Amino acid sequence: MSQIYDRVALIGLGLIASSMYWAIKRAGLAGEVTGYARSEATRDTARRIGLCDRVCDTAQEAVEGADLVVLCVPVGAMGPVAKDIAPVLKPGATVSDVGSVKRHVIQDVGPHIPEGVHFVPAHPLAGTEHSGPESGFAELFDNRWCLLVPVEGSDPAAIARLRALWEGMGSNVDEMDADHHDLVLAVTSHAPHLIAYTMVGVADDLRRVTDSEVIKYSAAGFRDFTRIAASDPTMWRDVFLTNKDATLEILGRFTEELFALQRAIRTGDGQHLFDYFTRTRAIRRGIIDAGQDTDAPDFGRVKAKS
Ligand code: NAP
Repeated sequence: MSQIYDRVALIGLGLIASSMYWAIKRAGLAGEVTGYARSEATRDTARRIGLCDRVCDTAQEAVEGADLVVLCVPVGAMGPVAKDIAPVLKPGATVSDVGSVKRHVIQDVGPHIPEGVHFVPAHPLAGTEHSGPESGFAELFDNRWCLLVPVEGSDPAAIARLRALWEGMGSNVDEMDADHHDLVLAVTSHAPHLIAYTMVGVADDLRRVTDSEVIKYSAAGFRDFTRIAASDPTMWRDVFLTNKDATLEILGRFTEELFALQRAIRTGDGQHLFDYFTRTRAIRRGIIDAGQDTDAPDFGRVKAKS
């Protein structure tokens, strides 16, 4: 794979930025990658583990001379970061982001993009429940989708170049409109996270989550909720605050379906439950057939040594 950008700047050095760095290096997609994180502790960690060719003490220093700047901070921090770096952006450069919500990021970042600089928002649909500079790995984006969400007037050449970068990092790339993106993600990611947070919260409220039985027998389903509910609190707070409408719409539908299932249980309507679970099982099959998960039992977890 050949070099796509001379210089890339990653602003925010957490899970996504660190995975991008290792994936860019794996394929030689950029000449130099600079990085910036707001805390000294994160910058020190980045320097210690060799994350980025150059770690800078200010965002402006990291961005100077960059052909591509990727904002890898929580959604609520994108606007202030864009405002900070705007004066030093190189003419002809592209600004992108990896935020999990798109309409809000476009509204917050767009006004700060100077004339002559391209803005191409993006969202890699890949992640783990871990965060911070040491959580990234080069394979995170392999065979995962990255959605590009061009804004009105986005330069086709800038879009094509960013697409090549994501493909070079292992992703499949699609383009989508911001509102549609936010609705799709509310269904596939945001609402499921809220449900996981709730389920773990319910167990905690029952004061049984620390009981040895709940932990010991958690493989019965609860364990998978706890993994999702361990995701970064700042990131997820921002997702719900900024994708309010789509998330509330999906949660409304969820509540209706939940009531219907509740009713079926109360009235002993086994046919309703059976038909419902048959339909959902087919969706799981579709995800496996699309190569987005493995068919291995127990989600492919490596068995603990006895
Ligand atoms: P992360 O591991 O928690 O890292 C976040 C980074 O942003 C850290 O370097 C942090 O700096 C910096 N930061 C936090 N608040 C900031 C602020 N107010 N101003 C400036 N910098 C700030 O997060 P991540 O998982 O990489 O997520 C980054 C972005 O990717 C988010 O927008 C998220 O929605 C999106 N995303 C996440 C996932 C996922 O599964 N995690 C998947 C796809 C997209 P310090 O370390 O110095 O605090």
